[in-house]
Amino acid sequence: MTRIASILVLSVACAAPSCAQEKLVVQEKVALQQKRTFTFEQAGVRFSNQFSGARLNECTQVGSSAFRLVIRPENTPINDSAWYAFQVTAETPRTITASLTYVGGRHRYKPRISRDGRVWSPLEADRWVYDREKGTVALRLDVDKRPLWVAGRDLVGVAQIESWADALARKPFIRQSTIGKSMRGHPIRMMELGNSESRNLVFVISRQHPPEVTGTFGLMAFVSKLCEDTPLSKSFRDRFLTLIVPLVNPDGVDAGHWRHNMGGVDLNRDWKDFKQPETRQVRDALLKIAARPRARPFLFLDFHSTNRDVFYTQKDEHPTFPENFTRDWLAALAKRFPDYRVRRSGAHDPTTGTSKGWFYERFKIPSITYEFGDHTDREPIRRVTGGSTEEIMKLLLAAARN
Ligand SMILES: [Zn+2]
Repeated sequence: MTRIASILVLSVACAAPSCAQEKLVVQEKVALQQKRTFTFEQAGVRFSNQFSGARLNECTQVGSSAFRLVIRPENTPINDSAWYAFQVTAETPRTITASLTYVGGRHRYKPRISRDGRVWSPLEADRWVYDREKGTVALRLDVDKRPLWVAGRDLVGVAQIESWADALARKPFIRQSTIGKSMRGHPIRMMELGNSESRNLVFVISRQHPPEVTGTFGLMAFVSKLCEDTPLSKSFRDRFLTLIVPLVNPDGVDAGHWRHNMGGVDLNRDWKDFKQPETRQVRDALLKIAARPRARPFLFLDFHSTNRDVFYTQKDEHPTFPENFTRDWLAALAKRFPDYRVRRSGAHDPTTGTSKGWFYERFKIPSITYEFGDHTDREPIRRVTGGSTEEIMKLLLAAARN
């Protein structure tokens, strides 16, 4: 049985003095996943979606050791990013087959498994079969009393991101604050890294799209480089204030959504109408700091995942301050990592409602969607992003001196 969420949000803010209090219904309808354990007594097998980030909507037994799992999106139409995550146990050790069928989507994320929800590894290639025609996948899993976690990518969700941010906030040069609340009331946090007095600003956001875990790996590598005890990182922290919102869509991540927030909206198409509380509050918090006297924004980065590593940028003929930053940065990256293929897709269309389009229009700064492949491993992300962050710091420090 599917429950439908419907939340009324009141907007009382209005710039025009004559504007009366405005009542705004921003909530579309999202099908909530029923949280439960699917128990098959005779087989002694249990499937569960009772954890943050889980996605498993239906489960039936179709053979003595075979189960059919149905995964649904939160609402449609939707980008086909069919996220799944569940736990399975068996009273006695056995091998089962779990076949995943996606309603309104196709199999996308290669299966990964974990015994504790923290350390993940790929399910061996000979243990799963992708049916290209049907868009389904069959997994052969060894299960026993201990929970086996199965997901489309390592679970790096609300709790993991927040404990990462809390640990960083103990550093003397990082401050953390709450800048608003998601539709479900979860705090949206911002980290301010570097010199709080500095007029030189960098804006960074991530996880507008729930399944995009490799984007979070990239963000973490970026922040970790800014925190290093090197002359370059120290000098950057002295001269710049970097504002980081690591989790723009906590509700979607918690609910195991494929793409949207609780409003059933792709937040990275809402940076035009700003009908969703998450995008509106992130925009307002960043604009407030950008409105300080003599503030000078330099760069916007939005970390995501897609089918391969790629940078969505403006074209070189679109003027920016700092001038030619994107061209010079990506050239430095290509030179530094000859084994890494720098892919760039340049365009600017403010009508699409992406964060990148809005930041470019508003500030005329390089505004980049920094995409990692869905299946790019953590270690190359750390290595290449660490290098790319050093090149960013060098170029921005040079621009700040001018
Ligand atoms: Zn994305």
